[in-house]
Amino acid sequence: MTKKLVILGAGIGGLSVLKELAESKVPLDDPDITMVDEDFSHFLGFTLPWVMLGWRDQASVAITPGSNALAGVRRVQSAVHGIDPTSRTVTLVNGTDVAFDALVIATGARNAIDNIPSLRGTVDNGAAVHFYSADAAAQAHQALRAFTGGRLVVLVTSQPYRCPVAPYEGALLAADLLRDNWVARRHRNRHLHARKASDAFGGPPRGT
Ligand SMILES: Cc1cc2nc3c(=O)[nH]c(=O)nc-3n(C[C@H](O)[C@H](O)[C@H](O)COP(=O)(O)OP(=O)(O)OC[C@H]3O[C@@H](n4cnc5c(N)ncnc54)[C@H](O)[C@@H]3O)c2cc1C
Repeated sequence: MTKKLVILGAGIGGLSVLKELAESKVPLDDPDITMVDEDFSHFLGFTLPWVMLGWRDQASVAITPGSNALAGVRRVQSAVHGIDPTSRTVTLVNGTDVAFDALVIATGARNAIDNIPSLRGTVDNGAAVHFYSADAAAQAHQALRAFTGGRLVVLVTSQPYRCPVAPYEGALLAADLLRDNWVARRHRNRHLHARKASDAFGGPPRGT
């Protein structure tokens, strides 16, 4: 009997499952594969700092799996509401149930700005930015371009967060952008101080 494989999430994780299955030497016994995602348009994480820096615009980093990548796969565009491991069903937000024999949960991580006290308000009023989504990275670029002086603080939250290296990469790139701004504006504004990138996230060693 055909086995039902349901994959939740069409990001790097979910698509990697399809690739591994396609390349696998294991006989798959004609699986019936369904992939569920609330938004099949996604991005590769490492392109977000490029958007923040202005090397790429937001629209150009969107990726959508094409018909080749999803050949033979039933595609369901919907948010997942719940999973019942006993009845082996996934419930979608519209109440539809999707049955499975095997389930891959590859729904990734979400930005949780509200978990850091006061950060939501600071982001909403434009005083803080982040680059952990494509639209946020585009806003961060505008904010950095408009930054005329003062201190830029890079907040690295406690774990877990996606891509531990990204805040440091972002700090270095932001320092570069500010330095370029400063060079362009130095005859108009002598107060902008582009600090060394290492100061932006770590500061000098505090010896014992
Ligand atoms: C700024 C930044 C820089 C990064 N740089 C790098 C790098 O240089 N190198 C590197 O290897 N990695 C990098 N990463 C990490 C990389 O992007 C993630 O590790 C990778 O995207 C994780 O893949 P995933 O498939 O697990 O999750 P995701 O890519 O987040 O995909 C999850 C999918 O599940 C869907 N989904 C979630 N919840 C639901 C739901 N309830 N219902 C339906 N669908 C749902 C989402 O729409 C999404 O399409 C970076 C990440 C960021 C944010």
